[in-house]
Amino acid sequence: MPYDEALERFEPVLGLETHVELGTASKMFCGCPTTFGAPPNTQVCPVCLALPGALPTTNATAIESTIRIGLALNCSIAQWCRFARKNYFYPDMPKNYQISQYDEPLCFDGHLDVEVNGEVVRIEIERVHLEEDTGKSTHVGGATGRIHGADYSAVDYNRAGIPLVEIVTKPVPGTGGLAPEVARAYVTELREVMRALGVSDVRMEEGSLRCDVNVSLMPRGSSEWGTRTETKNVNSLRSVERAVRGEIERQAAVLAGGGKIVQETRHFHEDTGTTTSGRSKEEAQDYRYFPEPDLVPIAPDVAWVARLKAALPELPRLRRGRLQREWGVSDLDMTAMRNADAVDLVEATVAAGAPPADARKWWMGELARRANELVVPLAELPITPGQIARVCALVGEGALNDKLARQVLEGVLNGEGSPDEVVAARGLRIVDDEGELSAIIDRVLADNAAAADKVRGGKIAAVGALVGGVMKASRGKADAARARTLILERLGVSE
Ligand SMILES: [Zn+2]
Repeated sequence: MPYDEALERFEPVLGLETHVELGTASKMFCGCPTTFGAPPNTQVCPVCLALPGALPTTNATAIESTIRIGLALNCSIAQWCRFARKNYFYPDMPKNYQISQYDEPLCFDGHLDVEVNGEVVRIEIERVHLEEDTGKSTHVGGATGRIHGADYSAVDYNRAGIPLVEIVTKPVPGTGGLAPEVARAYVTELREVMRALGVSDVRMEEGSLRCDVNVSLMPRGSSEWGTRTETKNVNSLRSVERAVRGEIERQAAVLAGGGKIVQETRHFHEDTGTTTSGRSKEEAQDYRYFPEPDLVPIAPDVAWVARLKAALPELPRLRRGRLQREWGVSDLDMTAMRNADAVDLVEATVAAGAPPADARKWWMGELARRANELVVPLAELPITPGQIARVCALVGEGALNDKLARQVLEGVLNGEGSPDEVVAARGLRIVDDEGELSAIIDRVLADNAAAADKVRGGKIAAVGALVGGVMKASRGKADAARARTLILERLGVSE
């Protein structure tokens, strides 16, 4: 069903479950390292392989990071809680249970405010809890990479036991047609909060931030919530938006045709933007949760939690508001900078002494264009905020104009050295020697006698050709405004 029609008939209700892999040096319950991309099964030990008799111990940094996440999301922090065993069989989970938290989450009842089209939407957070990640199965031989049709499967346990924080929202009704944008804005904001806290590298493409998107529809005018589906592991911000939209359209068509929505997990397909049915959840799985007997309860000291709260960094939304005021930029400009991942770079360039408008101009203009050409993130261009600030300073003191500055940036990006080295090596400094400039003007006036006569005769517009001649003769290195003044003086004309 077309999206607009779906929205006329139904109100979507969103829910988001986000898993964030913490960036701790070691795993959740053992001392194994957590480096991404190591050869399979090289970061394992008896504890994370669940060999008989091995006993877990809790990673204190992971507890601290989870509490900081909870505090940043305005949650209450449990004064006492336990880990629980979630029992299910899966080949990438060596214990055949996952150590998680059940009815006693470490953090609960919070919220995160996000902005969509200039409006603030409050997303209520139900819980933030801590668990361990599973290993990773690779299915070989099938067409889709899924287990169906595969010849065999291989399991890598390097990831098994890496601390994983699960952040669950309460149902979010009332967003109407903006539901896809709200979902995306939430995950974007959450990712920025994690970055600000420094608890995870939150790389969706590497799976350190994974998102499950729940959607249900209720007929307009009804107050009874519909059956929800859960779309698993949607692994980019754009996919979050598309998955919500696709699922709204699909469910609306099913309901409008007199059908029923089945409670199930669904898989998102990047190529088509649609979802297909996965595991049915109609018969709720019984995980036989029980308190983990091998670990002591967690009882965070109230004074410690207060210290963690006091030491939280400035959170992204507040920081963006402050920078926007300090830089005097519009909502639109700020959104563009945020979408280009340029906010940190502009801030660092301003901190290095550049005027905000200039810092923004270079990062969002010349450098964004270059990053786009090279298909790399802006931050990975081989140029530093300090170097941009130096170019801005050279323009500010009149040693470079914009055209020359672009050549300097090009030189730095090509690895020709610092801005000053590029200026020296390429001879880019503006001609600021009056004698040298006068000599160039003399030559240009002699070569363009007709134009000079016109200017003398009062046709001041003709001075443009003479200034152009000076710029050409100096290979762009003359100060055009200064040249114009000197030419008019020389020809005895005043404006
Ligand atoms: Zn281990």
